[in-house]
Amino acid sequence: DNKVVIVTGGGQGIGRAISRAFAQEGASVAIADIDDEAGLENKEYIISNGGRCIFVHTDVAIEEDVKNMVDEAVKVFGRVDVLINNAGIGTGGTIYTRDMKDWDRVIAVNLRGTYMCSKYAALKMRDLGGGVIINIASTRAFMSEPHTEPYSASKGGIIALTHSLAISLGPDHIRVNSISPGWIEVSEWKKSSQATKPVLTEADHKQHPVGRVGKPEDIANACLFLASEEAGFITGANLTIDGGMTVKMIYV
Ligand code: NAD
Repeated sequence: DNKVVIVTGGGQGIGRAISRAFAQEGASVAIADIDDEAGLENKEYIISNGGRCIFVHTDVAIEEDVKNMVDEAVKVFGRVDVLINNAGIGTGGTIYTRDMKDWDRVIAVNLRGTYMCSKYAALKMRDLGGGVIINIASTRAFMSEPHTEPYSASKGGIIALTHSLAISLGPDHIRVNSISPGWIEVSEWKKSSQATKPVLTEADHKQHPVGRVGKPEDIANACLFLASEEAGFITGANLTIDGGMTVKMIYV
């Protein structure tokens, strides 16, 4: 169809698959990414496959960038129907060693960025009669490996932000949902200068109840569904897409 879709972090990884999936369905796609090489490369791919696409250099943590990016999408395509808040980062270290600036950056990109993109997109969606926002959280919102505090906290924040936005924006016909991916293998979905063949063992696949590690397309397909009319009664929900890992009991 002819929807206008913004995908943050649409240059690489899961965002690359999401933007291509929407373009394939006939949507006009605005890729908002901080990495120009990745964003431009994916834009060229989409256009050379017959799609409509623009790339807007955007750091989702910078308010001017976000405002400009949404304005640009509306200027070129006339409206905005769907926002996918996909841009996200992690950080290293431990609570004993990690600088507070690393905590601040992760929260600024993952949580504050999601809120800010939602704010500027929702202002347009409200005027245009409605829209859909999909926030990419993580199963790390619900369970952890050691030393992931900023990332996990940001993703837990996205889950709460999602139901909060769903309630506030419902009257303006804007549905807001989140997707929590598990392990999604993105090494082949990086920009070509950094893409590598995935190195996955049999154990990596077998530990998943569905028998395999996830693919970016698994998340892209769910975004297509949540953005569609068929999902019209779904708002404030979180869809976990992890091959069953978070419902598997692990007592030894
Ligand atoms: P990725 O690193 O492969 O791609 C992320 C993209 O976002 C890159 O193109 C990067 O340039 C862009 N980006 C980073 N910071 C940005 C910023 N400040 N402004 C705009 N763009 C920015 O990551 P991915 O694995 O595809 O992850 C995408 C989303 O899915 C993230 O929110 C991540 O937390 C989430 N997620 C991924 C997995 C996984 O296993 N891959 C699992 C759960 C959740």
